[in-house]
Amino acid sequence: MDIYNPYTLKKIGEIREFSREEVREAVDKAYENKEKMKNLSVSKRYNILLRIANEIKKRKEEFAKLLAIDAGKPIRQARVEVDRAIKTFRLSAFYTKELRGEVLEDDEKLIIAKREPIGLVGAITPYNFPLNLSAHKIGPALAVGNVVLHHPSPKAPLVCVELAKIIEESLKKYGVEGYYLLTGYGDVVGDELVVNDKVNMISFTGSTKVGEQIIKKAGFKKVTLELGGVNPNFVLSDADIDRAVERLVKGSFLYAGQVCISVGVIYVDESIYDKFIKKFVERVKTLKVGDPLKEETDVGPVISLEHANWVKELINKALEEGGNILVGGKVEKTLVYPTVIEVDKDNILCKTETFAPVVPVVKLSEEEMLELNFEFGLHSGVFTRDINKALSFAQKLEFGGVVINDSSLYRNDSMPFGGVKKSGLGREGVRYSIEEMSYIKSIVISK
Ligand code: NAP
Repeated sequence: MDIYNPYTLKKIGEIREFSREEVREAVDKAYENKEKMKNLSVSKRYNILLRIANEIKKRKEEFAKLLAIDAGKPIRQARVEVDRAIKTFRLSAFYTKELRGEVLEDDEKLIIAKREPIGLVGAITPYNFPLNLSAHKIGPALAVGNVVLHHPSPKAPLVCVELAKIIEESLKKYGVEGYYLLTGYGDVVGDELVVNDKVNMISFTGSTKVGEQIIKKAGFKKVTLELGGVNPNFVLSDADIDRAVERLVKGSFLYAGQVCISVGVIYVDESIYDKFIKKFVERVKTLKVGDPLKEETDVGPVISLEHANWVKELINKALEEGGNILVGGKVEKTLVYPTVIEVDKDNILCKTETFAPVVPVVKLSEEEMLELNFEFGLHSGVFTRDINKALSFAQKLEFGGVVINDSSLYRNDSMPFGGVKKSGLGREGVRYSIEEMSYIKSIVISK
């Protein structure tokens, strides 16, 4: 398969396109290695994961440049992703030594409840954080002794090809084979992992549309789904406006809005609306748009021409429904200029994940904000200086995360992370992924 740079639109590489039959063969091979991986000692698992982290660190700048040319991620943001991936593998190493069970006792029995690896994990990852979101599946899976079959997104696979070499070498050094990179198309490679009976779990990160197809097809497999959403952010009457502006600009436009927890909609209390909007729009105008390889770039391209055209149509629909552009609105090839649109609460932009640097703002009262209903439930943000208001929003919102005084974009790689409703099932965050990727076995001993 040919791979293209989303900014220059030029070919930058090729990857192997696995057929369904080749995926089945890889699954059979993985199955043969299941027992050996399960029995790999704790210290070997620890050393393997630490080696992976160290090898990525040695090649940090090379990996960041690959993310810039393949995923179109501005280079400063790409370096942050590499640092996070190093941390995710280090945390995974740490947790090999922290796998805990428990002991129960009754009159005649001693019961040891211990964690066992689930077996073969099919890891399917999206294009937007190809390195760190792969690390979030591969690290915890290997930490507990699973075998991983990994399908990365063909929209930005090159960094995963390099990561795969490091993982394979690291496992080989300790005499095991426990990782298979399966490049190609999702509806062939990903689908075969989903329907193959030898695969014990699918750990999927991607769109709600594909997630829904997976859950319907997976059969007797564990499935975790990290999906999309339209993440609401609320600026209340007593908010620190300068702080809210700074955090919400970052939350809306980092990586051109292509983050699952990007700011989806900003609801602003009517009493501070004009003041907030003036400062927000001024700050958005300072963002530098362009080549992801340039140090000064804040906003690079979206992933494809197809996506940019879809976003253009969506902006037009929002305007037809009464939206008013405050800044931006321009689309040149894959560059979508940072766009802020004033809309009412029922506008299409308040219900659609744009995955682009386009953010709608809505003027409401705090009471009206608390009456809103949401189809998705990934992350939300609330800006207020009043702890009671913060708690009542946190209590009311049915979301996987409620972030107070920062935007919905906040994530820490150790925290439990994931959504509810159409935003997903299960949790990631190294320790939580380990729990999802293992099962509890009760060994009952008669006294
Ligand atoms: P996507 O189109 O859903 O693709 C995700 C992965 O699934 C790709 O590797 C894709 O391969 C594969 N796939 C496609 N059809 C499949 C099928 N029938 N069976 C199995 N696998 C299949 O998502 P994307 O465009 O790469 O990423 C953007 C989406 O991911 C957004 O909605 C975003 O919110 C979500 N996301 C969520 C999180 C989170 O943690 N909650 C994090 C990041 C991104 P192909 O590309 O070949 O189709």
